[in-house]
Amino acid sequence: ATAASLALTLSACGQDSEGGSEEKKGSSEGATVGIAMPTKSSERWIADGANVVKNLESKGYKTKLVYGEDEPDQQVSQIENMITQGVDALIVAAIDNKSLNNVLQQAADADIPVISYDRLILGTENVDYYASFDNEKVGELQGSYIVQQLGLEDGEKGPFNIELFAGSNDDNNTRYFFQGAMNVLQPYIDKKQLVVKSGQTELTQVTTLRWDGATAQRRMDDILTKSYKSDPVDAVLSPYDGISIGILSALKSDGYGTKSKPLPVVTGQDAEVASVKSIIADEQAMTVYKDTRELAKVASNMVDALLNDKKPEVNDTKTYDNGSKVVPAYLLEPVAVNKENYQEVVVDSGYIKEGDLK
Ligand code: BGC
Repeated sequence: ATAASLALTLSACGQDSEGGSEEKKGSSEGATVGIAMPTKSSERWIADGANVVKNLESKGYKTKLVYGEDEPDQQVSQIENMITQGVDALIVAAIDNKSLNNVLQQAADADIPVISYDRLILGTENVDYYASFDNEKVGELQGSYIVQQLGLEDGEKGPFNIELFAGSNDDNNTRYFFQGAMNVLQPYIDKKQLVVKSGQTELTQVTTLRWDGATAQRRMDDILTKSYKSDPVDAVLSPYDGISIGILSALKSDGYGTKSKPLPVVTGQDAEVASVKSIIADEQAMTVYKDTRELAKVASNMVDALLNDKKPEVNDTKTYDNGSKVVPAYLLEPVAVNKENYQEVVVDSGYIKEGDLK
């Protein structure tokens, strides 16, 4: 299905699953789970929403699924509405990790457990569990890919020029992705095998509000104009496929993508269809695949356990401190994907249909 047709199916699901619950707390019979997702502008969240609904419905739950159009205020009122309508549990992928404290206090007052989905919600006690991927590992996979492709491990190679992009500054994952990548890249920057000609190396200088591809494209345009008049850029750290596509557009407009001016190594994340196609076309170099079907299962199992007075399964109880508490987490493994393994990892696993890549 295309993103648009998925979106349609999903909004239909959201409506079909309307209906509050007057059931008693502590019993999962007929309970309703509210699911707040950040945006439909990216495929992964569409799939996340659909998969969470599917998992919960298969366990006999009702669901309400809402999308926040990347507007923090809209997400807050959507969650408020679901609390008023009497949901029994909430699964929330935050848009702005710090904007939810008041509304989650309302959830706590109504005895509604909250799962932080993919992105950790900060600054509140009222987050019960966290379901995500090993976010630092995502960045490490991106950084390592650049190091390998440029052959930097052989200490003689370089200097190569690199530019750095990070995600939205209000998404807690951003600093983990960036930190992971810099764990790998920084030693080569220190040894001058990698040079950031723009001079923009601090996280605060390289974030991309709401992960917006057009914003990244403008920043890349600007960097190319100001810092790459003569030398080419050899690698671009990009945290997310939508950003990578923006960066690649800027590069192509600047004449990259020919024999004499090859595209730099551009990373990504999420294995979105457009980016896997770009990888097949030798444009984007890699992406990081996170099987959101598995994440949806983990989050649904957590809710199911909580509503049945059981302890959800976790595999990390020390990494994710949200400022108020360390949130017990279940973290899944991300996988690096390139032209060599995309077939096996994303197609054969059924994550993307072969036909969608044509
Ligand atoms: C998710 C990534 C996604 C990004 C933009 C992050 O919080 O972990 O998978 O690429 O948001 O949607």
